[in-house]
Amino acid sequence: MTSIDKINFIDLNAQQAMIRPQVEQALINVLNHGRYVNGPEVDELEQQLSELTSVKYALSCANGTDALSLVLMAKNIKAGDAVFVPSFTFAASAEVVAHQGATPVFVDVDLDSYNMSVASLVQAIEYAKNKKLTPKVIIPVDIFGLPANHAEILKVAQEHELWVLSDAAQSFGAKYQGKSVGKFGLATTTSFFPAKPLGCYGDGGAIFTDNDELAKVIKSLKSHGQGEHRNHYVRVGVNSRLDSFQAAILLEKLKVFPNELKHRDSVAAAYSEILDNSIKTPKVESALGTTCTWAQYTVTLPEDVDRNKVIEHLDSQKIPSVIYYDTPIHKQPAYEKFVEFSPPLNNTDYLSKHVLSLPMDGYLSIEKVNYIAQSLNKALLTCKQ
Ligand SMILES: *Cc1c(COP(=O)(O)O)cnc(C)c1O
Repeated sequence: MTSIDKINFIDLNAQQAMIRPQVEQALINVLNHGRYVNGPEVDELEQQLSELTSVKYALSCANGTDALSLVLMAKNIKAGDAVFVPSFTFAASAEVVAHQGATPVFVDVDLDSYNMSVASLVQAIEYAKNKKLTPKVIIPVDIFGLPANHAEILKVAQEHELWVLSDAAQSFGAKYQGKSVGKFGLATTTSFFPAKPLGCYGDGGAIFTDNDELAKVIKSLKSHGQGEHRNHYVRVGVNSRLDSFQAAILLEKLKVFPNELKHRDSVAAAYSEILDNSIKTPKVESALGTTCTWAQYTVTLPEDVDRNKVIEHLDSQKIPSVIYYDTPIHKQPAYEKFVEFSPPLNNTDYLSKHVLSLPMDGYLSIEKVNYIAQSLNKALLTCKQ
């Protein structure tokens, strides 16, 4: 394969090259009107996001972490409250809980989906009660872009009188059983960090909810706790805004987003076709109307394979790969103290030792995918423990 040129883990330049003139024009428009914050692009984006998901309110904010925090703040999550969250995720999912003074209770994940295990969730609720915490919220994370088991999680939430905040930072644009991500639980949040499936050129995030009261409180909180009028503050808030430049960029990116999601599906299918027989590949329950945004294409290597050697082999073939996540949150120094409140996290520990994420984006050529998959198959034969 001498004709293969450089392979990026995520290629953001291919997309930029395609939409560059439109993005430049959109930025010039903002420079011309000069409303750098709360400009018309922000309203337009929120309206499009709401229409796309069929969720009543899409509220933009500064980043995906703030989006999570704003919901927890609005619901007054505080010390003594238990918030159930996977450990096999990006730190932000648990960070926002600790910031409220509440306790993140880590929930194990399923080996097949990498998403929150419902059995472990039920166990975690009992653990929290035994530790005298008050169970309040479940934060399922749609990891790597695959929606969590929302139907079962919502059932558990109802039985235990908890509410659900979905962390869709990686899955915005996906569907779960025919409905858009954004419709599951009291609120859903996403991130527009550049490397996410729908990314801007800086930081950005959004909150989705059908609940009028929650939307009203979040709108106020993200604007310093403002009441009906300027210079009238009814609660202690924060400053968390998406700026007009980022909104303008996202409006251009939304136009190509559906095609990018389709291409990501083709990339995943091409990987799976070559890798299915040799390795555990991710599966989507498409017969039920569920889709995946493929924020990552993550495989689980067999136990007798040395992952570091595989990474080195791929690297020698100019193929970048990344481990998401080699240290789960409950093993991070800042979060170890919460482990005593959590049930066993055996699958999380197992996955952190065996997973590997391969190059993925909306423009990766199928020729490159075949080359990557074949190189990985070769590595599997030689890189034994
Ligand atoms: C990226 C990410 C976040 C945080 O989003 P930011 O915009 O970077 O603050 C939260 N949760 C998950 C699962 C993420 O992947």
